[in-house]
Formats: sequence, structure tokens, C-alpha cells
Amino acid sequence: MQTTPEFDFRNTVSDHRLVGLWRMLTGFRLAYLGAVVGVGLAAVLKTGTYLLLRYFVDDVLGQSGLGRTVPLIALGFVGLALLQGGFTFLSGKLAAQTAEGITRRLRNYLFDHIQRLPFTYHDQTQTGELIQRATSDVDAVRRFFADQAIGVGQIILLFVVNLAAVVSLNRQLALLSILIMPLVLVMSVFFFKKVSAAYEAYQEQEAVVSTTLQENLTGVRVVKAFARQSWERDKFEQHNWEQFQRGRQLLVMHSLYWPISDILCGAQMLGGFLAAALMAINGDISVGTYLAYHGLVIWLIWPIRNLGRLIVHMSTGLVSYGRVLELVREAQEPLTEGSHIPTGDVQGEIVFDRVCFEYDGEESKVLKSVSFRCEPGQVVALLGSTGSGKTTLVNLLPRFYDYTGGSVTLDGVELTAYPRRFLRQQIGIVEQEPFLFSRTIRENMTYGVGRDVSDEEVEAAARSAAIHDVVLAFPDGYQTLVGEKGVTLSGGQKQRVAIARTLLKDPRILILDDATSSVDLETEGVIRGALERLMQGRTSFVIAHRIQSVMNADLILVLDRGQIVQRGTHPELLAQEGMYRRIYEMQARVEDELEWELGDIQLAEDLPDVMEGETVYVGLAV
Ligand code: ADP
Repeated sequence: MQTTPEFDFRNTVSDHRLVGLWRMLTGFRLAYLGAVVGVGLAAVLKTGTYLLLRYFVDDVLGQSGLGRTVPLIALGFVGLALLQGGFTFLSGKLAAQTAEGITRRLRNYLFDHIQRLPFTYHDQTQTGELIQRATSDVDAVRRFFADQAIGVGQIILLFVVNLAAVVSLNRQLALLSILIMPLVLVMSVFFFKKVSAAYEAYQEQEAVVSTTLQENLTGVRVVKAFARQSWERDKFEQHNWEQFQRGRQLLVMHSLYWPISDILCGAQMLGGFLAAALMAINGDISVGTYLAYHGLVIWLIWPIRNLGRLIVHMSTGLVSYGRVLELVREAQEPLTEGSHIPTGDVQGEIVFDRVCFEYDGEESKVLKSVSFRCEPGQVVALLGSTGSGKTTLVNLLPRFYDYTGGSVTLDGVELTAYPRRFLRQQIGIVEQEPFLFSRTIRENMTYGVGRDVSDEEVEAAARSAAIHDVVLAFPDGYQTLVGEKGVTLSGGQKQRVAIARTLLKDPRILILDDATSSVDLETEGVIRGALERLMQGRTSFVIAHRIQSVMNADLILVLDRGQIVQRGTHPELLAQEGMYRRIYEMQARVEDELEWELGDIQLAEDLPDVMEGETVYVGLAV
């Protein structure tokens, strides 16, 4: 595979779309020029055929010694046709190469660009919209380069060459043959505007449809679990109907343009034929000139007619180019910006001082004056109801978002002074539902480690994460594919793979979204053990959902609506009146009841109807 050289599309951005498109041609301009010259030469050769015809009829036919001249002229016709075909092929090949090359480079760039955009951008943009821009819109840009831009060159050359040829035949005729042109141009510009607007609306709606499809695929389990298929189908149908309407509008625009332009061009051609025939009858022009004109005028009208078509089609390429450009203009998250990179190891002392945060475009503060201190190697547990700001708080550490007030320091240095890339290398994250790629287990474990890892290391990490035996039970061991095309891992297994991955990365700071509440008791014990091994000697932030997960923490922060309402260790907090004790008592009561009920169920001879064949979840939202 050949890789594309680095090309920063941000450098092509210009307020004038044509300038921007010209800049995008960097590196392909020679080939593109070759393509334009190719179509030009093919046009000249085609015109030459008609001029040869005229010469043949007027100057050769009727003369003596035809036997020698006719084969030569026949050869001339064949030669011209061959050359014309050759140049057409060459220009087509060069144009396709250029267009495919530019779009390949553009797709590669967009892929990388999108993954470098900040979280704030991704929060506000739907995935389907991004996919639409990186595929369908890029394809419209490809068509622009492959067909439309080359087509314009071809049309202009054909027009100029044929007009010159017709002028050389007869000036009056030439003038008569292009009377219609201004009208066609005005009409094209009118349709250009209409089609641009209709196409933009169509592309926007297509993005909505692909977002709906993508969400449905991602959330297929939820859809099935809630039996919402009919509702989802109706929603999709509604969006699809809207796209159908917009598509129809776009087609109506196109189909309105064609008959009008055909009538105009047909009338122009007939007028030309009539005038030329009358002139030939009156003896103003020769029969050869009439015949040549007959052929040439078709190739004079063709560009006029097609210029309109191209202008209308170009509007789609330009609209798509504009949509791609909007994406290119988005500022990437600077990964290396920041002056402070410590010489030694990071210690992991973290201090929050009156930290405030609100999401982009949101009025209300999600974190309100949060202050706490955490020594290297300590475990900080965050407890609080859903939406209290726990995730937001830990997301500030790798600078997924930057705090909007107060200060956060790592080893005494402001967090914003560290380059994002450096910070992220120091931080390991185990999410509640870790995402695994559709690759092998080994590849998932070594993902982002940033160095060659030996099999022994991988196995040691897997053992420590209590996943080694599970992996060995698969026929392909560590080479087993996971995800859509491979085995499906349970939530607890995925978590342990993520723990092994983090162990291999060996970061100084950990962020753990403790998900032990969603697995069975045995797995919970296994995961808890793995997490404890992972946390040893690292500063750790644990988003806790159950009191058991926080009991050993050095500092427990109880959050409520973005504020720390209680802080301390487990015994300290139990001794106080407040939210922590209420949560503790509530959880203890529910667990007691659960135990009692389970005992009851085991004693009962017949399970109640409702239990048959159903899974009963007992959940607790803290
Ligand atoms: P927790 O992790 O405690 O459940 P979060 O930190 O996820 O809480 O959310 C805190 C608040 O911030 C909630 O009100 C939530 O709606 C809001 N929030 C979370 N993420 C975003 C986001 N990307 N954009 C805007 N608001 C958000």
C-alpha cells in the first residue's frame, strides 16, 4: 500500500471556493493540465474532421485523379478519428487519476482530522453528519474534479475551436449560430442557484437519515429490549419521506432545466440549418461549406447546451465542497501545545482549587467551586447521584475539557501548562462499559501502549486482570477476534481486558468508572481484585456506584449538583449525618431485603408466574 504524503487541507481554505479547489489540486496540477490539453486536442481533431470533409467535397470531388487523393483523404479521416480517440482516452485517464488521488488524500485527511477535533465538537455533532461529509460529500467533490471541472475545459475549448472553424466558413452564419447563448447562460445561472439550495437541503436530510440508521444500529439492543421497532421504523420513515421529498424537488429542478435547454438549443440548431440551407441554395456558400457547417454546428451547440448542464451539476460539487470545508475549518485539539514536560516521573499529586466548569453553550455550571487535595498514590472516590458531575470532574484531568474557573494542579503545575498528549500518556482510563475494537484480544490489550510488548508481558497483565484463563478457553487464545466478527465478551470480561490494557500502559494516574454493580457477585469479586492490583501505587479516581467500592478510599467526595457536599474517609462519613450515611443505609437495607427475598425464593416450592423465564434485575440508583 502506498501512503499519501502529509497534506494539510487547512492550507487550501480560501474565501473563494474556486481558489480553494485550485489549491486542492496541489501535486496533481500537471496531470490535470494534461487532461485538459487532451480534451482540447481531441476537440481540435474532431473539428478537423469536418474541415477535411469540406475540403473533400469542395476541392477534391469532381476533379480528375481522384484515385490517388481519395485513399489519402480516407486515411486522413481514420487518422483523425484514431488520434481523437487516443487523446480522449488519455485525458479521461489523467482526469480520473487526479480526481481519485485528490479524494483519497482528502478522505485520509478528514479521517485524521475528525479524530483530532475536541470533545466539545463531537458533543454537538452527530456521527451520521460526519460520515455523510466524509463519504457522500467527498464523492461529490470527486465528481467535480473527474467530470465537471474537466468538462468545463473541454466545453470552452470545443466552443472556441468550433466557433473559429464556423467563422472561417462564414461570419454571418457563425453569428447566427450563437444567438441563443446569452439566454442559455442566464438560465443556467438561475438553475445553478435553485439546484444549489435544493441539493444542500437534500444533503442535510441525507445526514439525518444516516444518523437515524447509525443510532438504530448502535442501539439495536435497546430497541429490541423495549420492543420499539415499530416506533423506530415510523421515525425512520418520516425522515426518509422528507429525503424523498427533497430528492424529488432536486430532480424536478434538473428535469425542468433539460427540456427548456433542449428546446432553446434545438431551435438554435434548426435556425442555423435553415439559414445555411438558404445560403447554399442562393449560392452564397458552397455545398462543402454547408456540409461542414452541418457537422460543426452540432459541436458548437453541444458545448452551449452542456455548459448549462455542467453549471447546474457543478453546484452540487461546490455545495459539497463547502460542507467539507466547514469540517476542515474546525480547529483541531492541540495535543502538543503546552510548555511543561517534567524531566522525571510524574508523582501524581493533584489539587483542585475552586474549580468551576460549564459545557460550551450551556448557562448553568456543572462544577461549582470544587476544591480538594490528593497526595501521590491516594485513592479518591466520587459518589453522588446521576448528573451530579462525577464524570465531568474526572474528564478535566486528561483535559478532555478545560475548566472554566479556578485551578487544577498536577505536582504543583497548572494542568493547562502540560501538553494534552503528555497528560493523556500519564492517565489510564477504565470505563464503565469499555469499548473494544473489532480486533484480536492481544491487539486490544496492547492498544495505545506505545511500545513493543512481549507475550510474557501481555500474559502477566492478563493474569493480574483475571482474564488470562478466560482468554485461554477461546480456541485462538490471544489471537481471538472480538466484536462484530468475533466472539462477544460479557461486560465483566470487557472490563478485565480494559484493566489489562491499562496495566500494560502503566500510567501514574488512574480514572476508573467502577461498574461492579452491573455484574454478578463472583465476577464482582474478581474485578474488584483486579482493580485493586491496578490501583497499587497510582493516584486513582474512582467513580463509585456502591459503598463497597469506596470503603478503602483515602478520600471520599460526595457530590451533589456540582458541589462537594461531604468529604472524608468511610468511618468519618458514617459518623456524620448526611447524604453518605443515607446512601449507606439505603444500600444496606436493599441488600438485606434482597438477601431475604432470595432466601425466600429458594425456599418456595413454586416460583410465582412472573418469575418464570424472566431475568429479574434489582438495581439501585444512588
Ligand atoms: P455524573 O457522571 O455524575 O452522572 P455528569 O458529569 O455526566 O454527571 O453530568 C453532569 C451534568 O452535566 C449533567 O447535568 C449533564 O446533563 C451535563 N452534561 C454532561 N455531559 C455534557 C455535555 N457533553 N454537554 C453538555 N452537558 C453535559
